[in-house]
Amino acid sequence: MTRLSTQTATAPFRLHEVTLVRRRPISPSFVRFTFSGPELDQFADKGLDQRIKLIFPLDGVGLAAVPMGDDWYARWRELPDELRNPIRTYTVRAVRREQREIDVDIVLHGLTGPASRWASSAEPGDSLVILGPNAAYEGFHGGVDFLPPRRSGRVLLAGDETALPAIANILEALPADARGCALVEVPHPDDVAALPVHPGFDVVVVPRGSGTHGEALSPLVREKVDGLLEALDSELEIDDVDVDAGLLWEVPSDDAGHAALDEAPLYAWLAGEASVIKALRRHLVAERGMDRKAVAFMGYWRLGRSEQN
Ligand SMILES: Cc1cc2nc3c(=O)[nH]c(=O)nc-3n(C[C@H](O)[C@H](O)[C@H](O)COP(=O)(O)OP(=O)(O)OC[C@H]3O[C@@H](n4cnc5c(N)ncnc54)[C@H](O)[C@@H]3O)c2cc1C
Repeated sequence: MTRLSTQTATAPFRLHEVTLVRRRPISPSFVRFTFSGPELDQFADKGLDQRIKLIFPLDGVGLAAVPMGDDWYARWRELPDELRNPIRTYTVRAVRREQREIDVDIVLHGLTGPASRWASSAEPGDSLVILGPNAAYEGFHGGVDFLPPRRSGRVLLAGDETALPAIANILEALPADARGCALVEVPHPDDVAALPVHPGFDVVVVPRGSGTHGEALSPLVREKVDGLLEALDSELEIDDVDVDAGLLWEVPSDDAGHAALDEAPLYAWLAGEASVIKALRRHLVAERGMDRKAVAFMGYWRLGRSEQN
């Protein structure tokens, strides 16, 4: 039975107990999951790369132990391991508040993690709990990291399949006169079907095939940046980021959550496997001289590591 959230308008995010109503393959690697829930009319539609959390059932326990209410996270952390449901981060691909529905596009990457395992066998009628932005909350929600300067000459979007839903949302939201490149490395050539076109964007999808992560994307980014930005002579020193020690995540913004710069010739948004993204960011900032405040980079996942709860 669906439990209604007891969260208040003071929380920027709120939990929803939802039911899977449709699963539809949209390309060889992606399945679009449509969820319905009685309070999804309260799910704020912030678009772009809005991140959300999906809370998955535990064997033998389901979702019964997931605490609801404003203090759910503190109570969830206090639960014993066997009652603490796995939580993973996703992008909300579409919000239809009137129909109380949302879509999430999930990559099937095998049976190695709770999210991909759930996605490979979930059927309509199955339940999940989803944390999403609260429409009743009037402040700054957070969780949107595409923050281009007000005047950006060009935009570079680059990532792997986990970033594809966010890149698709961003392309759909950008005005027709925006200009740039969207470069995505995917498992299968036909995954291109999951991306929209944009009149001002060079959208290039490269299949990974039997290569390693980033092997196809990295040379593509290097090549395309030539056309986006004139090479600068200076070699800049940048801080090293240890992807094994910490979260690879930097979103240049001011205290109010707006873009850090007012204008930039090129704004780059990079997301995907952490070590690939770290190398791309280094290329753009250290080798090409891009202002680091014009580069947002996010390690969406780490090869060989489970997302920590
Ligand atoms: C802000 C944000 C938005 C995201 N949006 C989406 C989205 O819209 N759609 C989407 O599919 N993913 C998205 N991701 C990525 C997703 O959260 C991770 O892939 C997550 O690790 C999947 O959880 P899991 O339980 O399947 O695997 P985990 O338990 O986290 O990991 C188990 C194993 O699987 C490996 N692994 C994890 N993801 C992949 C992958 N994609 N390919 C190959 N191996 C993998 C790990 O390295 C580990 O070895 C997003 C991540 C972030 C941070």
